[in-house]
Amino acid sequence: MENRSMRDLESRARELNGAIVETRRELHARPELEHDLPFTESVVVRELERLGLDEVKSAQGRGHGVYATLKGKKPGRTLALRADMDALPVQEETGLPFASTNGAMHACGHDAHTAMLLGAARLLAETRDELPGTVRFIFQPSEEVDSGATSMIESGALENPHVDEIIGLHTGNLWSSLKPGQIGWRAGPMMASTNAFKIGIEGKGGHGAIPNLSVDPIVIAAETIVRLQTLVSREISPFDPAVLTIGSIAGGKAGNVIAGSCEMVGMTRAFDPKLAEFLRERLRATVENTASSMRGRGTVDFIGYLPPVVNDPACAHKMRDILVDAFGKDWVQELALPSTGAEDFAFYLEKTPGAFFFHCSTFDDPERNYPHHNARFDVNESVLWTGAAAMAAYAKGNR
Ligand SMILES: [Zn+2]
Ligand SMILES: [Zn+2]
Repeated sequence: MENRSMRDLESRARELNGAIVETRRELHARPELEHDLPFTESVVVRELERLGLDEVKSAQGRGHGVYATLKGKKPGRTLALRADMDALPVQEETGLPFASTNGAMHACGHDAHTAMLLGAARLLAETRDELPGTVRFIFQPSEEVDSGATSMIESGALENPHVDEIIGLHTGNLWSSLKPGQIGWRAGPMMASTNAFKIGIEGKGGHGAIPNLSVDPIVIAAETIVRLQTLVSREISPFDPAVLTIGSIAGGKAGNVIAGSCEMVGMTRAFDPKLAEFLRERLRATVENTASSMRGRGTVDFIGYLPPVVNDPACAHKMRDILVDAFGKDWVQELALPSTGAEDFAFYLEKTPGAFFFHCSTFDDPERNYPHHNARFDVNESVLWTGAAAMAAYAKGNR
């Protein structure tokens, strides 16, 4: 009986692929940024309202966001399934017939996340008689910047009823060994913490020919960058993964002028929150001390922090067991290592146990696969139903 209903779920999910693709294309053509997603929200609300759920609510957060509730007919706990809905300020170059023309682009696959979660909601609403517990669907804004997860949590997305567990996935090209349609899972650390920072170096401007009367912030910046490379290589154990990158540097305008100041922007990644804190402290001390030892002034502003995504081992194993039992072992692959990418899904995991998975939607033809955030990024639409089926199967098997 149990396996039969899971097999029905699989065939129904296959049937729904066309509808999932249609929604994905509708969203893809009109991408929106950060918290400001009025069109995307209206599509999500329109689709959810067709399903006869118990509640569909616009989140009253820092912008747009939706959460909805489906009560199963069988007793059980409350599970949240989450998708993100925001796009990126990238000019699309895919040439697809439904490509965006508004200067923004779904270059990370969040259009597919939203469409797949709507598909999962439909699969579960159609079989609510056999659904245990309650399912909360969370459609959040602003994953790429300024945590929309926090905004959803503040709007009550994890309460009434209290959410016992949360599951999310990211589709695309995130793990090279995964095959299209497969779910990559991992117990424990899944994605890194990230800390974005801005470094200001103040010197004293002057004539390039008389450097002794100036304090050159460009030289201080160069020295600072070199010293910062030694934090990971000399102060952190080779067995503790960490990354420090300066991605941008700006200062000075002319070859014969010593600039008054210089600015750098970068980020750190780590899996252990204590290590992330250590990097913050040492970064600040290195910047301040390097600048003062060279007669300048260095400051660090931390402009955004995401905790690491750490999967609850029980939830991660449960997803594997449910998918293997229901659909076969080809559906899943255990990931040997975590990703140094970051995800604001981490904020939900600080509040409730859960797990985050990778859903592979690459193309068999490698020429069609581009990295996330690339202007030619695309997802393999023929496998979107597997993401919807995986989330729905988890909800059905979650007693
Ligand atoms: Zn992204
Ligand atoms: Zn993303």
